[in-house]
Amino acid sequence: MRNTFEIVVEYAPNAIVLIDKTGTIAYINKHTEDLFGYHRDELIGQKLEVLIPERFRHPHVHMRDSYIVSPSARRMGDGHPLYGLRKDGSEITVEIGLNPIATAEGSMMQASIIDITERKKQESIIRKQMIELEIKNRELEQFSYIASHDLQEPLRTVTNYIHILKHELKGEASETMRCINAIDQSTARMRVLVRGLLDFARLGRDRELVHTDCNRIVADVIADLESLIRSTHAVIHVGPMPKIWAYEVELHQLFQNLISNAIKFRREHVAPVINIECHMVNDMWEFSVADNGIGIKPRYFEKIFNIFQRLNRDEEYEGHGIGLANCKKIIELHGGKMRVESEPGSGSTFYFTIPDLKL
Ligand code: ADP
Repeated sequence: MRNTFEIVVEYAPNAIVLIDKTGTIAYINKHTEDLFGYHRDELIGQKLEVLIPERFRHPHVHMRDSYIVSPSARRMGDGHPLYGLRKDGSEITVEIGLNPIATAEGSMMQASIIDITERKKQESIIRKQMIELEIKNRELEQFSYIASHDLQEPLRTVTNYIHILKHELKGEASETMRCINAIDQSTARMRVLVRGLLDFARLGRDRELVHTDCNRIVADVIADLESLIRSTHAVIHVGPMPKIWAYEVELHQLFQNLISNAIKFRREHVAPVINIECHMVNDMWEFSVADNGIGIKPRYFEKIFNIFQRLNRDEEYEGHGIGLANCKKIIELHGGKMRVESEPGSGSTFYFTIPDLKL
């Protein structure tokens, strides 16, 4: 059995080094030879410091001495990266676990060393990419804000001239008048789109988390939509809603978009029935807004959350394709996720999560 254990240690995938009380290396396994580039004869009998870069040697000796006074199994470095020195002078990033052990030659310290150089390199690449992505996102947001803001002024000028021309032609039924009316309609649509883009870019600016009662938010939205609800004979069931830390104005807008879509995309001759619920799922609040409307084909489940994406013609269901893009952005501002499940012809359920913050 002892023999088997010796073989296991010798060929363990970690570097294992046994050190005595004076910090002298008593044993190393095969992986230590490969990792540090030494033959074991060159290391046994040497101080452990030979495997540590010069600049870390002094604090290491101090730590080693205090470890010998009160030995316990633990990780070295308190979660900070540690460095090892190879025979060829190159450095590696390592994680070291220490274990006191009693041997026939007295108490010893076993260090188990893992090379994490590659992992650290990958982590630093990912961190760098995340920062770059964040900067790019902010630039993009700034760009759409400025672009949509600056587009408003020339658009206003065009609108004013169209009104002057219309006034001049005083309802004349000419080809010119037909063209002017078409320009008028297009600029009106462009105004809505530019306004929508501006609101989208502005979403969440100067926001502040407020302890919000979602029962009240949903009740307010239902009250705002009262005439639409009455005219379509919509029935809305609302389950118990939690109190959460949220951006209140944005949350109101989110429910408003989802409920009005649930009514708008109803089936012909079928009164809308909407169920709004909230449950705790994996430490997050998961809200759902389910309808019995026209539904959405699975291949559009992602696309509908992009700005200006619509699946229906204006004549059937009016809209601009901004509502769900806003909803998704609002949920992401809260640190949550949004998705849809749907069966075409029988209804859709929009789910979104919001973290259960305890502020
Ligand atoms: P809009 O409602 O202005 O068209 P949205 O961004 O709110 O824009 O929605 C994008 C598209 O997603 C809609 O045009 C519609 O095709 C689809 N959609 C959204 N909500 C529903 C729903 N409850 N049922 C069916 N389709 C929906």
